[in-house]
Amino acid sequence: MRRHRVKASLVGLFLALSLLALGCTTPMAEAPAPPAPPAAQAPPTSTPAPQPDVSPKPQPSVDLASIPPYAGLPYVEINSGTPSFSAEDLARAPFEEYAPLDNLGRCGAAFALVGPETMPTEKRGSVGAVKPSGWHLVKYDIVDGKYLFNRCHLIAYRLTGENANERNLITGTRYLNTEGMSPHETAVADYVEATGNHVLMRVTPLFEGEELVARGVQLEARSVEDGGAGISYNVYAYNVQPGITINYATGESALDGTVEADRPLDATQYAYVLNTSTKRFHLPACPSVDDMNEKNKQGFNGTRDEALAQGYQPCGRCKP
Ligand SMILES: [Zn+2]
Repeated sequence: MRRHRVKASLVGLFLALSLLALGCTTPMAEAPAPPAPPAAQAPPTSTPAPQPDVSPKPQPSVDLASIPPYAGLPYVEINSGTPSFSAEDLARAPFEEYAPLDNLGRCGAAFALVGPETMPTEKRGSVGAVKPSGWHLVKYDIVDGKYLFNRCHLIAYRLTGENANERNLITGTRYLNTEGMSPHETAVADYVEATGNHVLMRVTPLFEGEELVARGVQLEARSVEDGGAGISYNVYAYNVQPGITINYATGESALDGTVEADRPLDATQYAYVLNTSTKRFHLPACPSVDDMNEKNKQGFNGTRDEALAQGYQPCGRCKP
């Protein structure tokens, strides 16, 4: 009982703080704030040892309520695509900051100045040991690669080499990973590789209330040396998966019936089965037919010679 009450009051405190912080942020419709005045109250630059994790991290510069509902596009622009970095942030030396997990085990913003020196030189390792908030291992036939959720790096592995860092991994859909985030990460990686310049980057998961799965992710980036000429964006990417409804409070999910999986081919209806990828043809009962990707399967009711004439080779296993 007692423990329960303590937890509840902590939650209340957290909520109050979040509301306060949200109240202080600039609405996204407003013009970007003018540069901060000369650093009258700026802390001395020679602060001793860094003190990670004690100060509250900056809250997202966007309110979830201002984001339009998902309408078929993986991401939308925020603030006309202008990131909300301060002049001080843009002038910093290379750094990486990952907000500590909150009392619900959720990630906050990941913030870094990405450059050639932050990119990994080693091969990527496993992140399987990390269980981000709301994590469920669940497969659907309609999802590319089957798994609905990926452990999504906030700042991509290829940019900072952070691997199994629990402060940099959220429960994100395959769609968020590949359609919403990846194009923006690729743009930064390609730019840094081509120019050797640096990019200031902040990736912030946005949660509704106490939900464990983020509704989406805000991605902001701006190239430093060229003043944003190479890279400048501020977007919100939806943590959704077409055809699947997600309970963001728990991470549970279900098909919504709007997307159909490729129906498996009934091989028995055909004389042969073609693999349009390998250009082999098989007898319907060949075990290779079961292993074949449905996308590459095609029924064929012509003769053996007709299959050969279409450029298909007989399978070495079933020898049609
Ligand atoms: Zn075969």
